[in-house]
Amino acid sequence: MTRWEPARSAPAHAITPATSAWTVIGRGMRNRCPVCGEGKVFNGYLRVVDECEVCHAPLGSLRADDLPPYITIFVAGHILFPPVLWVEKAWMPPMWLHMAVWLPAFTIACILLLRPIKGAVVGWMTRLGFDPPPEVKAPPGPPRSDHA
Ligand SMILES: [Zn+2]
Repeated sequence: MTRWEPARSAPAHAITPATSAWTVIGRGMRNRCPVCGEGKVFNGYLRVVDECEVCHAPLGSLRADDLPPYITIFVAGHILFPPVLWVEKAWMPPMWLHMAVWLPAFTIACILLLRPIKGAVVGWMTRLGFDPPPEVKAPPGPPRSDHA
């Protein structure tokens, strides 16, 4: 199996085995290619580019799947849930007011957090390599019987 390597024309600061995970995570968070730090990760709000425009790293082959929304919900909940409890304890506002304030706040927080978190996950995944996904094999059929 061949692994993708940065092109010889890649910038000097392109990813190497010695590049720290925090470097590639930080690059992804800032919408910069985790490999070279110059190209973009996203084409639009959340669509990952097929390959980096600068170093041609196949970023589109990295499948972040459900991890970015999971982390986003986890972080937004930990940021906003303590104020929800504090407001309830301090003023006990009616439920409609809670909903009018906190639902938009959670929505905005998730919209703002999701993109940098997905970029960070894509950056982290570059540390795992760019091997193509394994071929899907046909499921095994019914067991053969040699006694028939
Ligand atoms: Zn790049």
